[in-house]
Amino acid sequence: MTDDTRLRATVPTVAELSDKGAIVLVLAHFGRPKGVPSPEFSLAQVVKPYEAVLGRPVRYVDWEGDAAAVATLRPGDIAVLENTRFFGGEEKNDAAVVDRFAALGDLYVNDAFSAAHRAHASTEGLAHRLPAFAGRAMEAELDALEKALGRPEHPVAAVVGGAKVSTKLAVLKHLVGRVDHLIIGGGMANTFLAARGVDVGKSLCEHDLTGTAEEILDAADAAGCTVHLPYDVVVAREFRANPPVRTVNVHEVAADEMILDVGPAAVEALGDVLKNCRTLVWNGPLGAFETAPFDTATVALAKTAAALTKDGSLVSVAGGGDTVAALNHAGVADDFTFVSTAGGAFLEWMEGRELPGVAALTQ
Ligand code: ADP
Ligand code: MG
Repeated sequence: MTDDTRLRATVPTVAELSDKGAIVLVLAHFGRPKGVPSPEFSLAQVVKPYEAVLGRPVRYVDWEGDAAAVATLRPGDIAVLENTRFFGGEEKNDAAVVDRFAALGDLYVNDAFSAAHRAHASTEGLAHRLPAFAGRAMEAELDALEKALGRPEHPVAAVVGGAKVSTKLAVLKHLVGRVDHLIIGGGMANTFLAARGVDVGKSLCEHDLTGTAEEILDAADAAGCTVHLPYDVVVAREFRANPPVRTVNVHEVAADEMILDVGPAAVEALGDVLKNCRTLVWNGPLGAFETAPFDTATVALAKTAAALTKDGSLVSVAGGGDTVAALNHAGVADDFTFVSTAGGAFLEWMEGRELPGVAALTQ
């Protein structure tokens, strides 16, 4: 096991249910065993670490003799069941697998927002078979997302960065109709700059998507959403740590240079935009933040957002694998209102899609 974040996230729900006298059976998946049981993917190995984060004893229940083992549990007991993906039907939301899980319990509590974009037996099917509830972590996540994009206080700003436009087209299209300020950074900003006629040199740029970028800019215009593209940028000839760099206006990028970060003047202006906003939703770094000094813009804007959140003037919600890493790198993840570790589910939510695991709970 590399990280116990996901284990710790379940503690409030599991401890509360146990304290209230429930027998708590924890259903979880691990890895991609594709229906084939193997020791490598067995949840037996999480029992000890789970006991450590819970501070309580945890039983392990295998899929052989599970009903008999569960029958010996007493109110307040906590048991981890074996990997749900040891059943091939789990990911197919197979009715027989749903029945198998449902037979073990009386109530279903879903605390895994990060798996809610999948309609699997343990994430969706069960909600139709047993009385279903959101766990505390799921509840907190849905609350935060509702505050950020469902019913946010305006003005709302979105930061969308990262490498490519192509992975975030649906996000951009959804956001232009919802937010007042769309801040585009990262590699994807280059495609938008190219669409506006800027020569981006050797920068990462999806030239085949400049037409799509123009459509998004037009849609933003029509919706009254202000799009913020960088007007100064940090460029280098080589992509490595601490190469010679130049800070230039976007119109001054040389043919052999790459844009690797948003420039300081643009970052300062973006900070002023955030000062006038009440809500911020952030996915994607502004630059190639893993490599110094191209973390500068991301760190600076993250610190501004964190300070505004601390002052109480901004609700800030962020998510995405690299975004979480970038906010941790900036040392401000704890100062944001909410940081989602949900990856795929967070992005689908930013696309405005209904997540099957959440929809099944609210029906
Ligand atoms: P997330 O995981 O938060 O959704 P993405 O995966 O979309 O974020 O994007 C993160 C990646 O984008 C990082 O690896 C970062 O280095 C890269 N990136 C950001 N800006 C640039 C840039 N100007 N040129 C190349 N890569 C960039
Ligand atoms: Mg990523």
